[in-house]
Amino acid sequence: MNETEKEGRYTTDVALRVKAIESLLVEKDLLDPAAIDKIVDLYQNKIGPRNGARVVAKAWTDPAYKKRLIEDGTSAVAELGYTGVQGEEMVVVENTDDVHNVLVCTLCSCYPWPTLGLPANWYKAAPYRSRVVIDPRGVLKEFGLEVSPKIEVRVWDSNAELRYMVLPKRPAGTEGMSEDELAELVTRDSMIGVGLPNTPGKAV
Ligand code: FE
Repeated sequence: MNETEKEGRYTTDVALRVKAIESLLVEKDLLDPAAIDKIVDLYQNKIGPRNGARVVAKAWTDPAYKKRLIEDGTSAVAELGYTGVQGEEMVVVENTDDVHNVLVCTLCSCYPWPTLGLPANWYKAAPYRSRVVIDPRGVLKEFGLEVSPKIEVRVWDSNAELRYMVLPKRPAGTEGMSEDELAELVTRDSMIGVGLPNTPGKAV
């Protein structure tokens, strides 16, 4: 599913109301929808998650940092300067050959802002929040990610005190790549667990 399709499936009343207001403003020529989409995209996909991508790339290249990150996410993330509201207590969960981790906030929309930026609408919507707990593999499949039955799927429920971030597996074929190059491969979805990092040669 692309971003628009995800929003279509995992939408909320609030999102629908916002869309209705947006349509009205566009109709009256007060708003350019393309400009709004660009700004949202910037914070959800481009600026926001780049901090998290730096954390992941460092963990992939520096085993001592990775150890600190798993043991004490808050401090290790703060080493790179990423602290603040909605990121006070961070727990980083590592994807391995045996475990795939997925994040949700079943109660509302808790999300690690300092590392991932603003949450997408689908993340905040009831259908994602309720279904990913009941049928994580089914939801992941809809996001285009099929997890082998041999791999355990763990769902982590964020809350007001605790925010999670997924440390995805380093993609094959990235040996010898620099930290900067690796960071370019890390997608927002891969740090939520609803996607994987890009592989070399595929643009972010
Ligand atoms: Fe929440």
